[in-house]
Amino acid sequence: MKISILGAAGGEVTGSAYLVETDRARVLIDCGLFQGGKKADVLNVPPVAGNERLDAVLLTHAHLDHTGRLPLLTRTGYQGPIKATPATMELTALILRDSAKLQVSEAERANRKRKAGRPEVLPLYTPENVEVTIQQLAPVPYQQALEVAPGIRATWAEAGHMLGSASIQLEVQDKGKPKRVVFSGDLGPKGAPILRDFEPFHRADMVFLESTYGNRDHRPFEDTVKEFTGIVQEAVQNGGKIFVPTFAVGRAQLLTMLLAWMFRNKKVRPFPIFLDSPMAIEASKIYQHHPELFDDEMNAFLKQGAVGHDLRTLKLSITAEDSKKINDEPGPFLVLAGAGMCNGGRIMHHLRHNLARPETHVAIVGYQAGGTLGRMLVDGKKEVAMFGEKIQVKARVHTLGGFSAHAGQKDLLAWFETIAPSKPKVVLTHGEDEPRGALAKLIQSRFGLRSTSPKLQDVITL
Ligand code: ZN
Repeated sequence: MKISILGAAGGEVTGSAYLVETDRARVLIDCGLFQGGKKADVLNVPPVAGNERLDAVLLTHAHLDHTGRLPLLTRTGYQGPIKATPATMELTALILRDSAKLQVSEAERANRKRKAGRPEVLPLYTPENVEVTIQQLAPVPYQQALEVAPGIRATWAEAGHMLGSASIQLEVQDKGKPKRVVFSGDLGPKGAPILRDFEPFHRADMVFLESTYGNRDHRPFEDTVKEFTGIVQEAVQNGGKIFVPTFAVGRAQLLTMLLAWMFRNKKVRPFPIFLDSPMAIEASKIYQHHPELFDDEMNAFLKQGAVGHDLRTLKLSITAEDSKKINDEPGPFLVLAGAGMCNGGRIMHHLRHNLARPETHVAIVGYQAGGTLGRMLVDGKKEVAMFGEKIQVKARVHTLGGFSAHAGQKDLLAWFETIAPSKPKVVLTHGEDEPRGALAKLIQSRFGLRSTSPKLQDVITL
């Protein structure tokens, strides 16, 4: 059998896609968008050509870097199933619809700036394309082997990374010989609240392991909660305003639950919280549909009292008008708004109005890529440019490292440890060169296993 690496390789972390081929079947694992500028745009083509056979697409989870090229695939002729857990199906629909809207508005903006005689810029895909993709999503349960293509059975297991996330094991009959291949997908940190911890597989001939944080561990979650609680307590006491740039799916729900926990345990008196993101509001509803995916601690918390009562000061800002009105509110309050890296979205106008005020707090809870406003704030820049004006940064910027949705080094090794005794071939993907190299060394020294780090378009035979 052959496995082609069609994304998230060669030091790249976006664009995840693997094509598994036997003499009888062809299956695609994930179909992610390449993200990050012009270089990424050229790579955003369908991973399999429209006239080629493809039996099924299997999704590990809903993040755009794992699902964002699906509309290209279905638009160019793929009509088969896209198999995913029910929560992944719902979140994929939400994320792809948002992505299409963004593609359309980016194309419109490019066309407004277009010089005469230049060809019209077309969006990568449209909302109509996405609706077709959504029709092809098909649900799968966790921990049940399903025939997904002739001679290929797939099992989804909890990955603890986002609601509905999974690692996928394939049992492949290739010319009569059974082989097992495991794709870790993105793995979450052990012990993080809300979601269950990952469930590793026990045996494999080949393992594809993500390596995003292969070189380090995160700050312990408890320490980060303490730090966040301290920031909130101080801001509330002083009537301050806290702005949290946040991704709509995952971090927004985690922080809302933490605030509920703080209120219930009287760490701080209830004060206004604005969930200022229609997408985060939708994602929160999807979370509420899936208590079966919560960990014991979360279920106990829900059983012990009504979260709706804890969060009675939570306000949902749906329209842009709602969002603007927050500016007139007196402190203390906390705003959760996108984009997570302050590179667009509603958080921008909040920061424009408040960065120059010393009573403002900005809590950074996620990864900030180089060149983004979020990164400049983390780096302690005293002046930033926004909307064509220079703004002094007098706000206090807090960087909270422990809220990551990705497993750190220790947890990646813990996941691998269960499968290591079966001596699989190890393929490291989804990591920049340094973390991937560090993880390769550790796997060699701890388990005596060599690993390979493929490049984009490499083909691995098993
Ligand atoms: Zn992910």
